[in-house]
Amino acid sequence: MANLTGNIAMVTGGATGIGAAIVERLAMQGADVACCYNTSRAAAESLAKKLKEQGKDIFPVQVDVSDSQEIKDAVESIVTHFGHPITILVNNAGDIIRTAPTEVMDEDLWDKVMAVNLRGPFLCTKHCIPGMKSAERGRIINISSISARTGGGPGAVHYVASKGGMESLTRALAKELAPFNITVNAVAPGDIYTRIHERYNTPEALEKMRQLIPLGRLGDPDEVATMVTFLASDDASYITGAVVAVNGGKRMD
Ligand code: NAP
Repeated sequence: MANLTGNIAMVTGGATGIGAAIVERLAMQGADVACCYNTSRAAAESLAKKLKEQGKDIFPVQVDVSDSQEIKDAVESIVTHFGHPITILVNNAGDIIRTAPTEVMDEDLWDKVMAVNLRGPFLCTKHCIPGMKSAERGRIINISSISARTGGGPGAVHYVASKGGMESLTRALAKELAPFNITVNAVAPGDIYTRIHERYNTPEALEKMRQLIPLGRLGDPDEVATMVTFLASDDASYITGAVVAVNGGKRMD
Protein backbone atom coordinates (compact mmCIF):
# COMPACT_ATOMS: atom_id res chain seq x y z
CA MET A 1 0.00 0.00 0.00
CA ALA A 2 1.27 3.47 -0.92
CA ASN A 3 2.61 5.52 1.96
CA LEU A 4 1.25 9.08 1.96
CA THR A 5 2.81 10.16 5.24
CA GLY A 6 3.98 13.78 5.12
CA ASN A 7 1.27 14.85 2.68
CA ILE A 8 -1.50 17.32 3.42
CA ALA A 9 -4.62 16.55 1.38
CA MET A 10 -7.63 18.73 0.61
CA VAL A 11 -10.74 16.83 -0.51
CA THR A 12 -13.78 18.84 -1.61
CA GLY A 13 -17.17 17.27 -1.05
CA GLY A 14 -15.35 15.08 1.46
CA ALA A 15 -18.21 14.41 3.87
CA THR A 16 -20.36 12.14 1.70
CA GLY A 17 -20.26 9.40 -0.92
CA ILE A 18 -17.11 9.10 -3.02
CA GLY A 19 -15.45 12.06 -1.24
CA ALA A 20 -15.86 10.46 2.20
CA ALA A 21 -14.31 7.22 0.91
CA ILE A 22 -11.39 9.26 -0.49
CA VAL A 23 -10.87 11.08 2.83
CA GLU A 24 -10.82 7.75 4.64
CA ARG A 25 -8.42 6.05 2.20
CA LEU A 26 -5.96 8.98 2.11
CA ALA A 27 -5.97 9.12 5.92
CA MET A 28 -5.51 5.36 6.29
CA GLN A 29 -2.45 5.63 4.04
CA GLY A 30 -0.89 8.32 6.20
CA ALA A 31 -1.96 11.70 4.78
CA ASP A 32 -3.31 14.47 6.99
CA VAL A 33 -6.64 15.37 5.42
CA ALA A 34 -8.87 18.44 5.23
CA CYS A 35 -12.40 17.11 4.80
CA CYS A 36 -14.16 19.97 3.00
CA TYR A 37 -17.94 20.07 3.18
CA ASN A 38 -20.58 22.53 2.08
CA THR A 39 -23.86 21.54 3.75
CA SER A 40 -22.97 18.15 5.32
CA ARG A 41 -21.33 19.47 8.47
CA ALA A 42 -22.56 16.69 10.76
CA ALA A 43 -21.28 14.01 8.36
CA ALA A 44 -17.88 15.75 8.08
CA GLU A 45 -17.54 16.01 11.85
CA SER A 46 -18.57 12.43 12.43
CA LEU A 47 -16.09 11.16 9.79
CA ALA A 48 -13.34 13.29 11.38
CA LYS A 49 -14.21 11.94 14.84
CA LYS A 50 -14.15 8.33 13.63
CA LEU A 51 -10.75 8.76 11.98
CA LYS A 52 -9.32 10.75 14.89
CA GLU A 53 -10.14 7.78 17.12
CA GLN A 54 -7.81 5.82 14.85
CA GLY A 55 -5.06 8.40 15.34
CA LYS A 56 -5.61 10.29 12.06
CA ASP A 57 -5.51 14.11 11.79
CA ILE A 58 -8.67 15.15 9.96
CA PHE A 59 -9.65 18.81 9.67
CA PRO A 60 -13.29 19.49 8.72
CA VAL A 61 -13.57 22.76 6.76
CA GLN A 62 -16.70 24.41 5.39
CA VAL A 63 -16.32 25.68 1.83
CA ASP A 64 -18.80 26.35 -0.94
CA VAL A 65 -16.67 25.75 -4.04
CA SER A 66 -18.83 28.11 -6.09
CA ASP A 67 -17.54 30.97 -3.89
CA SER A 68 -14.03 32.13 -4.76
CA GLN A 69 -13.40 33.90 -1.43
CA GLU A 70 -14.45 30.81 0.55
CA ILE A 71 -11.99 28.70 -1.44
CA LYS A 72 -9.14 31.13 -0.79
CA ASP A 73 -9.99 31.24 2.94
CA ALA A 74 -10.29 27.44 3.14
CA VAL A 75 -6.88 26.85 1.58
CA GLU A 76 -5.33 29.36 4.00
CA SER A 77 -7.01 27.78 7.02
CA ILE A 78 -5.89 24.27 5.99
CA VAL A 79 -2.27 25.39 5.59
CA THR A 80 -2.43 27.20 8.94
CA HIS A 81 -4.00 24.18 10.67
CA PHE A 82 -1.45 21.65 9.45
CA GLY A 83 1.52 24.04 9.23
CA HIS A 84 2.47 22.74 5.79
CA PRO A 85 1.34 23.33 2.21
CA ILE A 86 -1.32 21.19 0.60
CA THR A 87 0.37 18.55 -1.61
CA ILE A 88 -2.71 16.53 -2.60
CA LEU A 89 -5.86 18.20 -3.95
CA VAL A 90 -8.91 16.13 -4.82
CA ASN A 91 -11.56 18.12 -6.67
CA ASN A 92 -14.48 15.83 -5.90
CA ALA A 93 -17.38 18.22 -5.12
CA GLY A 94 -19.94 18.09 -7.89
CA ASP A 95 -23.63 18.51 -8.44
CA ILE A 96 -26.34 18.33 -11.10
CA ILE A 97 -28.67 20.53 -8.96
CA ARG A 98 -31.60 19.61 -11.23
CA THR A 99 -32.14 18.28 -14.71
CA ALA A 100 -33.87 20.11 -17.57
CA PRO A 101 -34.06 19.81 -21.36
CA THR A 102 -31.79 22.42 -22.98
CA GLU A 103 -34.58 24.45 -24.54
CA VAL A 104 -36.04 25.18 -21.09
CA MET A 105 -32.80 25.20 -19.06
CA ASP A 106 -32.27 28.65 -17.60
CA GLU A 107 -28.85 30.30 -17.64
CA ASP A 108 -28.79 30.46 -13.89
CA LEU A 109 -28.88 26.66 -13.57
CA TRP A 110 -26.13 26.31 -16.20
CA ASP A 111 -23.98 28.90 -14.40
CA LYS A 112 -24.48 27.30 -10.97
CA VAL A 113 -23.45 23.84 -12.16
CA MET A 114 -20.42 25.25 -14.00
CA ALA A 115 -19.46 27.21 -10.88
CA VAL A 116 -19.44 24.10 -8.69
CA ASN A 117 -18.13 21.50 -11.15
CA LEU A 118 -15.64 23.49 -13.24
CA ARG A 119 -14.81 26.93 -11.84
CA GLY A 120 -14.49 25.47 -8.31
CA PRO A 121 -11.80 22.94 -9.32
CA PHE A 122 -9.99 25.68 -11.28
CA LEU A 123 -9.96 27.98 -8.24
CA CYS A 124 -9.01 25.26 -5.74
CA THR A 125 -6.12 24.36 -8.04
CA LYS A 126 -5.09 28.00 -8.47
CA HIS A 127 -4.85 28.52 -4.71
CA CYS A 128 -3.01 25.23 -4.07
CA ILE A 129 -0.34 25.74 -6.77
CA PRO A 130 1.97 28.10 -4.81
CA GLY A 131 2.18 25.64 -1.89
CA MET A 132 2.77 22.68 -4.18
CA LYS A 133 5.53 24.58 -5.97
CA SER A 134 7.21 25.40 -2.66
CA ALA A 135 6.90 21.74 -1.58
CA GLU A 136 8.25 20.68 -5.01
CA ARG A 137 5.52 18.04 -5.12
CA GLY A 138 1.86 18.04 -6.04
CA ARG A 139 -0.90 15.62 -6.91
CA ILE A 140 -4.16 17.00 -8.28
CA ILE A 141 -6.97 14.53 -8.92
CA ASN A 142 -10.22 15.65 -10.52
CA ILE A 143 -13.35 13.54 -10.20
CA SER A 144 -14.97 13.63 -13.62
CA SER A 145 -17.69 11.27 -14.87
CA ILE A 146 -18.27 8.61 -17.51
CA SER A 147 -20.94 10.99 -18.80
CA ALA A 148 -18.24 13.28 -20.25
CA ARG A 149 -17.81 10.55 -22.90
CA THR A 150 -21.29 9.02 -23.11
CA GLY A 151 -23.25 12.29 -23.20
CA GLY A 152 -24.99 11.39 -19.93
CA GLY A 153 -28.66 11.06 -19.07
CA PRO A 154 -31.60 13.23 -20.15
CA GLY A 155 -31.57 16.87 -19.05
CA ALA A 156 -27.95 16.86 -17.92
CA VAL A 157 -26.15 18.92 -20.58
CA HIS A 158 -24.87 21.36 -17.93
CA TYR A 159 -23.38 18.54 -15.84
CA VAL A 160 -21.96 16.65 -18.83
CA ALA A 161 -20.39 19.79 -20.31
CA SER A 162 -18.84 20.66 -16.94
CA LYS A 163 -17.25 17.20 -16.68
CA GLY A 164 -15.97 17.41 -20.27
CA GLY A 165 -14.47 20.77 -19.35
CA MET A 166 -12.91 19.23 -16.27
CA GLU A 167 -11.17 16.57 -18.38
CA SER A 168 -9.74 19.24 -20.71
CA LEU A 169 -8.74 21.30 -17.67
CA THR A 170 -6.90 18.22 -16.38
CA ARG A 171 -4.85 17.88 -19.57
CA ALA A 172 -4.04 21.61 -19.81
CA LEU A 173 -2.97 21.77 -16.16
CA ALA A 174 -0.93 18.59 -16.51
CA LYS A 175 1.17 20.30 -19.19
CA GLU A 176 1.46 23.57 -17.33
CA LEU A 177 2.42 22.05 -13.99
CA ALA A 178 4.64 19.14 -15.09
CA PRO A 179 7.86 21.21 -14.78
CA PHE A 180 7.10 21.64 -11.06
CA ASN A 181 6.67 17.92 -10.24
CA ILE A 182 2.93 18.44 -9.98
CA THR A 183 0.83 15.76 -11.69
CA VAL A 184 -2.79 16.32 -12.68
CA ASN A 185 -5.10 13.43 -13.46
CA ALA A 186 -8.81 12.73 -13.55
CA VAL A 187 -10.80 9.73 -12.45
CA ALA A 188 -14.02 9.13 -14.37
CA PRO A 189 -16.41 7.00 -12.34
CA GLY A 190 -19.23 5.07 -13.95
CA ASP A 191 -22.27 4.27 -11.83
CA ILE A 192 -21.16 4.34 -8.20
CA TYR A 193 -23.78 3.76 -5.53
CA THR A 194 -24.14 7.05 -3.60
CA ARG A 195 -26.97 9.41 -2.64
CA ILE A 196 -26.76 11.00 -6.13
CA HIS A 197 -28.52 7.89 -7.44
CA GLU A 198 -31.02 7.88 -4.58
CA ARG A 199 -31.88 11.48 -5.50
CA TYR A 200 -32.04 11.23 -9.28
CA ASN A 201 -32.97 7.59 -10.07
CA THR A 202 -35.83 5.24 -9.27
CA PRO A 203 -35.08 1.62 -8.19
CA GLU A 204 -36.26 0.51 -11.65
CA ALA A 205 -33.81 2.91 -13.36
CA LEU A 206 -31.01 1.63 -11.11
CA GLU A 207 -31.81 -1.96 -12.09
CA LYS A 208 -31.66 -1.04 -15.80
CA MET A 209 -28.35 0.72 -15.11
CA ARG A 210 -26.98 -2.39 -13.41
CA GLN A 211 -27.86 -4.57 -16.39
CA LEU A 212 -25.68 -2.41 -18.67
CA ILE A 213 -22.57 -2.88 -16.53
CA PRO A 214 -20.40 -5.85 -17.58
CA LEU A 215 -19.35 -6.48 -13.95
CA GLY A 216 -23.07 -6.72 -13.10
CA ARG A 217 -23.23 -4.21 -10.26
CA LEU A 218 -22.86 -0.55 -9.40
CA GLY A 219 -19.48 0.43 -8.00
CA ASP A 220 -18.65 1.11 -4.38
CA PRO A 221 -17.24 4.58 -3.46
CA ASP A 222 -14.14 2.86 -2.08
CA GLU A 223 -13.42 1.46 -5.55
CA VAL A 224 -12.98 5.04 -6.77
CA ALA A 225 -11.04 6.01 -3.65
CA THR A 226 -8.40 3.31 -4.23
CA MET A 227 -7.64 4.75 -7.69
CA VAL A 228 -7.46 8.30 -6.30
CA THR A 229 -5.09 7.15 -3.57
CA PHE A 230 -2.87 5.42 -6.13
CA LEU A 231 -2.73 8.58 -8.28
CA ALA A 232 -1.85 10.58 -5.15
CA SER A 233 1.08 8.32 -4.37
CA ASP A 234 4.68 8.08 -5.57
CA ASP A 235 3.71 4.86 -7.38
CA ALA A 236 1.94 7.08 -9.95
CA SER A 237 4.93 9.39 -10.44
CA TYR A 238 4.97 9.03 -14.27
CA ILE A 239 1.22 9.42 -14.82
CA THR A 240 -0.09 12.87 -15.69
CA GLY A 241 -2.86 14.19 -17.92
CA ALA A 242 -4.67 10.84 -17.74
CA VAL A 243 -8.38 10.22 -17.35
CA VAL A 244 -8.75 6.88 -15.61
CA ALA A 245 -12.06 5.05 -15.99
CA VAL A 246 -13.52 3.27 -12.95
CA ASN A 247 -16.74 1.97 -14.40
CA GLY A 248 -17.09 -1.80 -14.19
CA GLY A 249 -16.51 -2.06 -17.95
CA LYS A 250 -19.51 0.06 -18.94
CA ARG A 251 -17.37 2.01 -21.38
CA MET A 252 -14.02 0.71 -22.55
CA ASP A 253 -12.51 3.45 -24.73
P1 NAP B 1 -22.58 13.08 -3.27
O1 NAP B 1 -22.47 12.21 -2.08
O2 NAP B 1 -23.85 13.80 -3.48
O3 NAP B 1 -21.35 14.07 -3.26
C1 NAP B 1 -21.35 15.33 -3.84
C2 NAP B 1 -20.51 16.20 -2.94
O4 NAP B 1 -20.37 17.47 -3.57
C3 NAP B 1 -21.15 16.42 -1.57
O5 NAP B 1 -20.25 16.03 -0.55
C4 NAP B 1 -21.42 17.93 -1.53
O6 NAP B 1 -21.11 18.53 -0.26
C5 NAP B 1 -20.45 18.44 -2.55
N1 NAP B 1 -20.91 19.71 -3.10
C6 NAP B 1 -21.98 19.94 -3.90
N2 NAP B 1 -22.10 21.26 -4.14
C7 NAP B 1 -21.07 21.86 -3.48
C8 NAP B 1 -20.63 23.20 -3.34
N3 NAP B 1 -21.29 24.24 -3.91
N4 NAP B 1 -19.52 23.44 -2.61
C9 NAP B 1 -18.85 22.43 -2.02
N5 NAP B 1 -19.22 21.14 -2.10
C10 NAP B 1 -20.31 20.87 -2.82
O7 NAP B 1 -22.36 12.21 -4.60
P2 NAP B 1 -21.10 11.39 -5.13
O8 NAP B 1 -21.66 10.37 -6.02
O9 NAP B 1 -20.22 10.98 -4.01
O10 NAP B 1 -20.36 12.48 -6.05
C11 NAP B 1 -18.99 12.84 -5.88
C12 NAP B 1 -18.40 13.21 -7.22
O11 NAP B 1 -18.40 12.07 -8.07
C13 NAP B 1 -19.16 14.30 -7.97
O12 NAP B 1 -18.26 15.19 -8.59
C14 NAP B 1 -19.93 13.52 -9.03
O13 NAP B 1 -20.20 14.30 -10.16
C15 NAP B 1 -18.93 12.42 -9.33
N6 NAP B 1 -19.52 11.24 -9.96
C16 NAP B 1 -20.35 10.41 -9.28
C17 NAP B 1 -20.86 9.29 -9.91
C18 NAP B 1 -21.76 8.33 -9.23
O14 NAP B 1 -22.23 7.38 -9.88
N7 NAP B 1 -22.01 8.45 -7.95
C19 NAP B 1 -20.54 9.03 -11.24
C20 NAP B 1 -19.69 9.91 -11.91
C21 NAP B 1 -19.18 11.01 -11.26
P3 NAP B 1 -22.20 18.73 0.93
O15 NAP B 1 -22.95 17.43 1.04
O16 NAP B 1 -21.35 19.04 2.10
O17 NAP B 1 -23.08 19.88 0.54
